[in-house]
Amino acid sequence: MAKIAINIATGSLQKEEMIVGIDLGTTNSLVAIIHPETKQPIALREHNSSSLVPSVIYFDEAGNVIVGEEAKKYLEISPERTIYSAKRLMGKTYQDIQQEGQLLAYQIIDDGTDQLVKVKMGDRFYSPVELSSFILAELKQRAEHILKTPVTKAVITVPAYFNDAQRQATRDAGKLAGLDVLRIINEPTAASLAYGLDRANQATTEPQLIAVYDLGGGTFDISILRLLDGVFEVLSTNGNTFLGGDDFDRAIVAHWAQAANISLQELSRNSLLAQGLRVKAEAAKIYLSGADVFEDKLNDLSLVLTKKELETLIEPLIAKTMVCCKQALKDAGLSASDIQTVVMVGGSTRTPFVKHRVSDFFGKLVHDAVNPDEVVALGAAIQADVLAGHNKDILLLDITPLSLGIETAGGLMDVLIPRNAKIPSKASRQYTTQVDGQGSMRISVFQGERDLVKDNRKLAEFNLINIPGMPAGLPKVEVGFLINADGILMVSAKELRSGIEQSIEVKPQLGLSDDQVEKMLLDSITHAKEDIALRALTEARTEGEQLLQSTERFLQKNASVLTKEEMLQTAAAMQALQMAITLDNKDLIHEKIEALNDVSRPYAERIMDEAIAGAMKGKKI
Ligand code: AMP
Repeated sequence: MAKIAINIATGSLQKEEMIVGIDLGTTNSLVAIIHPETKQPIALREHNSSSLVPSVIYFDEAGNVIVGEEAKKYLEISPERTIYSAKRLMGKTYQDIQQEGQLLAYQIIDDGTDQLVKVKMGDRFYSPVELSSFILAELKQRAEHILKTPVTKAVITVPAYFNDAQRQATRDAGKLAGLDVLRIINEPTAASLAYGLDRANQATTEPQLIAVYDLGGGTFDISILRLLDGVFEVLSTNGNTFLGGDDFDRAIVAHWAQAANISLQELSRNSLLAQGLRVKAEAAKIYLSGADVFEDKLNDLSLVLTKKELETLIEPLIAKTMVCCKQALKDAGLSASDIQTVVMVGGSTRTPFVKHRVSDFFGKLVHDAVNPDEVVALGAAIQADVLAGHNKDILLLDITPLSLGIETAGGLMDVLIPRNAKIPSKASRQYTTQVDGQGSMRISVFQGERDLVKDNRKLAEFNLINIPGMPAGLPKVEVGFLINADGILMVSAKELRSGIEQSIEVKPQLGLSDDQVEKMLLDSITHAKEDIALRALTEARTEGEQLLQSTERFLQKNASVLTKEEMLQTAAAMQALQMAITLDNKDLIHEKIEALNDVSRPYAERIMDEAIAGAMKGKKI
């Protein structure tokens, strides 16, 4: 039974607010809800139209923004005023985009290499967050129209490899569209929820290993998940951001062109013919998902394609996805036979040959009963229902793709939350000052696997100020990291003796692509040996420098009590240590630290004894 509430202030009846699930896709987006009566997830559609809203935005001359099917028409007519694939730009810098070698018909603005990209439209600039917000606003408006109730709360899905910046950008886009984004969840997790895998798993105490194979129009993603006690964990992800059903279409066009003796140069000159063939190619591909031969005409060109020919054409493309699957399994430390469940996502998994190949690869039948275009949104709706308090059994979990830590003495990376830690996650550690009377401490937050922060990626920096004057080593600064369920990091620093504290939310300005994450991981492996050596040297150097400083202080205070010989020996040992530090020789530094300690130990003990004796004088025990 649906609950009805009365607003005491206005006396009006209030319907229980619906939380929607949104799949914000590269090519298409859609909204789903849990049907209030049937309790089943459904994708929202108007009348008999498709539930899919093309993620395309057209800006007309008058400054109006048009989103969806209508905007898609302008991709051909007015490409410079029509934006597609805005999701690919989320949280990215101009440099990132250049490295990807993306060819987009619209203008991307280079306003500094480490700035986030913007798109120029007339005399205005739009950020990917704004662009995505236009799509979300359209989805919100559609949902409100269909449901006849305001929609203000949503769960939005993102690819599992999206980093902090990209998740935050998605959340910001929601906010800008007037949506309270209650949760950002991973697309493969959402797909698994749509198949009810979490519920099926609850009866056992065994973890379940799931592969989510997502082949859309332009992108391919494979994710390996582990499910235990209704909790999902992303073990690994892989994919290709430029591989999908569109490549199937291109292969068919090339095949037809070759059969008709049309050169590719000719095709690139005659865009009308190329476009006509592309449309027919997609139609052929879709037709062959349920038939054996496709026959049609384009002007006087006869177009024939058999299912067998299609399979031969797409085989190399599917082989590429298999390479990604192998890598994802390897990263998760698994083999294909360990996977118990395979979930199919994305329109291109409708091609029977794709299903066969995936099924053969994993050696089991694939889950394909739910509409592969809607499955992610349906899962988001299920999660939205959980958040609305209707289903309390599921808890979602993700992992951090790279380690998070802070810079410590000598530019070393001190990891607080290691890579692959479960999200939400919390960690804290105590640090102290290096100099007497140090009034502030710089907290620099880094992400990455290398031992030196200079090789990692800086996320944020702040100063803990007003630390009361104390000798070096006495203040206790506790640095805390907290990653919330959306993968957003909060960093806090508190000096425990005085209680002063400061905290920041880390919204990284720079986005990382999955390729970059992969590169950072690879680098850490390639450089592991030299990193370990460098870390050992840096630690030795820091220890040596600190010993020199403290000995210096000790000598200043206690010069009068030391013998001349002790003074000379100490000075010589200090000089030798200083030399070893200058030479960057780790073993020599350790040796000289020992030597200096050996020289100072006898008099340090003597002075200590005298001090204690002095303090005890006159006191009775
Ligand atoms: P998505 O990005 O998930 O919406 O997937 C879109 C891709 O799926 C496009 O390349 C479509 O041509 C393709 N697609 C849609 N329906 C079918 C079908 N029945 N058989 C094969 N491919 C399809």
